[in-house]
Amino acid sequence: MSAAYPHLLAPLDLGFTTLANRVLMGSMHIGLEDSRRHFPALAAFYAERARGGVGLIVTGGFAPNIEGWSKPLAGTLATRAAARRHRQVSRAVHAEGGKIALQILHTGRYAYQPLAVAPSAIRSPISPFTPRALSARGIERQIRAFVRCAALAREAGYDGVEVMGSEGYFINQFLVTHTNRRGDEWGGAYASRMRLPVEIVQRVREAVGPDFIVVYRLSMLDLIAEGSSWAEAAALAKAVAAAGATILNTGIGWHEARIPTIATSVPRAAFAWVTQKMRAELRAAGIATPLAASNRINTPEVAEQVLAGGSADLVSLARPLLADAEFVAKARAGRAEDINTCIACNQACLDHTFQNRLASCLVNPRAARETTLVLRAAPVRRRYAVVGAGPAGLAAATTLAERGHEVQLFEAAAEIGGQFTLARRIPGKEEFAETLRWFGRRLAATGVQVHLATPATAPMLAAGGFDAVLLATGVSARDPRIPGQELPHVLSYVELLRGDRPAGERVAVVGAGGIGFDVAAFLVTPPGHSPTLDLRQWRAEWGVADPAEVRGGVVRACPAPPVRRVTLLQRKGGKFGRTLGKTTGWIHRATLAMKGVEMIGGVNYERITPEGLFVSHGPERRESRLIACDTVVLCAGQEPLRELQAPLVAAGVAVHLIGGADAAAELDAKRAIAQGTQRAATL
Ligand code: FAD
Ligand code: NAP
Ligand code: SF4
Repeated sequence: MSAAYPHLLAPLDLGFTTLANRVLMGSMHIGLEDSRRHFPALAAFYAERARGGVGLIVTGGFAPNIEGWSKPLAGTLATRAAARRHRQVSRAVHAEGGKIALQILHTGRYAYQPLAVAPSAIRSPISPFTPRALSARGIERQIRAFVRCAALAREAGYDGVEVMGSEGYFINQFLVTHTNRRGDEWGGAYASRMRLPVEIVQRVREAVGPDFIVVYRLSMLDLIAEGSSWAEAAALAKAVAAAGATILNTGIGWHEARIPTIATSVPRAAFAWVTQKMRAELRAAGIATPLAASNRINTPEVAEQVLAGGSADLVSLARPLLADAEFVAKARAGRAEDINTCIACNQACLDHTFQNRLASCLVNPRAARETTLVLRAAPVRRRYAVVGAGPAGLAAATTLAERGHEVQLFEAAAEIGGQFTLARRIPGKEEFAETLRWFGRRLAATGVQVHLATPATAPMLAAGGFDAVLLATGVSARDPRIPGQELPHVLSYVELLRGDRPAGERVAVVGAGGIGFDVAAFLVTPPGHSPTLDLRQWRAEWGVADPAEVRGGVVRACPAPPVRRVTLLQRKGGKFGRTLGKTTGWIHRATLAMKGVEMIGGVNYERITPEGLFVSHGPERRESRLIACDTVVLCAGQEPLRELQAPLVAAGVAVHLIGGADAAAELDAKRAIAQGTQRAATL
């Protein structure tokens, strides 16, 4: 047991087996589950997490039958042949001393495929397919499929199963009247609506015997208007525990809920109070079943607080174990500062999953690439210069040095981070500072020689005798060439975010890309009052209530008033924020809407005057009108900064371009870090 994290690292005795610690790796669909040819990679992915010390791994969801598929041909465990294939996964984890449970996921009306079934034929807002309402016999078939899947999981060598009963999936759909309009013994009163999960757990337990872990993921807070009441959720928890669940895991929010539950702007451990409430409820009833808290628990400190404060018996960490497979081992060794922290951006994990792409991690491009992105010791030690300590340069420099090369890193600014030093100042993006902390530790650990406040020049680099130079000089702000932009009340986003020049009370933002949205959020929020750092304020902003007071836990949002009037502009027509993340764009849009940010598209920028910004519409530039403001902030995109390339090539120096210096279009930190890492892995 570690002195620093005594609760987190304490073993958990489940009676028939003991978990090494309180970390449950929450289920994540990474895209390797759906094809048998990916199983070796899937096994390697879990084995790395088991080696890193996770107490209990839960796999991504596997459907118990084809009706339960999330999409056509989704990973399924319904036959003995499939169970044999799964053995390579369970064996790989056991070889590392780990434990692993298979998640049984039936998506019901969330299925993105035409065979979808549900309690009632009610289409969900997140799938185009209307599900078929099940007959009573059809329901029995689904229950049998769950039971068969659990028995096969045992045959496949898993230590247990997790029955997915939350997030608005099939089982959850039976529980609430929003999706269950049945008049038979599976609908109507709550006792009938909760029959399905209770029968599933009871019959799974009968099938697998007493010495097999059965986790039940229970929706404790639905965050939809007709969601479960607290009394209903508590009754279900007690019934499922009595039916044989070994552990109750916390589910927060249906996928169709319009309240963020895991994005970076959600405060850390924002929902631990819900698990705490449920735990108190069970303990008062004399039920000792362990509970796992979930959502935005991303450091050992936060996890320890949750456990020490009595909110839960385990913590479910999912994305943090994509970001760093050694999370537990580092915590145990007293090296929490060396953990690569999940910044909850969703950019490489959930956004990929929802685009049918293999998931990975923005801060750890090796995640789910364990067998292909292998960092081997360099056969010959070479000397490299890396210019620019933004995400691309940091990833390249640390990877090169880790492989044994000598690396000199030159950064013009007085600190590392590049544009990430600006990103972390945006309210709701405070987590981005963790990535810079981690890179700082990596630079020191790998022995990179860092030269801050040192703008590199071509002659200096050419004289340095380097085997090659990696240019990671990033981008410069695009010049939108608007007449009048030289006036003193016109700022670049860099000047604004660095605090070089203040903004007034009425601001026009030119450009509505990722940076324009962030700048607008920055402008409407009082300095130092990010709701992400204040759970009470954040809950008020989004209308998250105690489900004991209101069904589903949703009340009217009460956002704090904006501190400025902001107008966000773009030249193209149509929806704003189309390039924002698939799973987070709606949050950025909703945030600005609740702060009254006006959005005007389809404009031409005519001129800026002391009165404000004149815009017109259409190719014929009709109806020039004034957007009155005292400040204009330019966020018009970016161009690659690579002026060193030509003189270096002329001097015969080998040059590699990475990150924004390579291509500014659609640049983000995910691409910058992945490209820096991949290039450095091959040099
Ligand atoms: P940069 O980060 O631009 O780094 C380049 C570095 O090179 C700089 O530090 C610069 O000082 C240095 N340099 C330049 N010339 C020289 C020289 N001659 N000598 C020495 N040093 C030099 N991305 C996301 O993925 N998700 C987000 O949520 C996100 N939010 C953002 C929010 C804001 C407000 C901003 C501004 C950006 C955001 N980004 C986000 C974008 C992300 O930060 C960039 O894509 C990423 O930083 C690009 O990395 P890079 O290393 O290529 O370049
Ligand atoms: P961007 O997303 O490409 O947006 C540039 C904006 O400027 C667009 O709204 C564009 O819209 C406008 N624009 C382009 N050329 C212009 C011109 N000549 N004059 C006036 N307006 C012009 O770039 P960004 O906002 O600078 O962001 C840079 C990168 O950082 C992006 O690739 C983004 O992915 C990343 N980032 C990501 C996040 C995130 O949350 N994931 C947040 C911040 C930044 P019109 O052409 O319609 O005017
Ligand atoms: Fe966390 Fe972002 Fe990595 Fe996903 S991509 S695991 S949210 S850091």
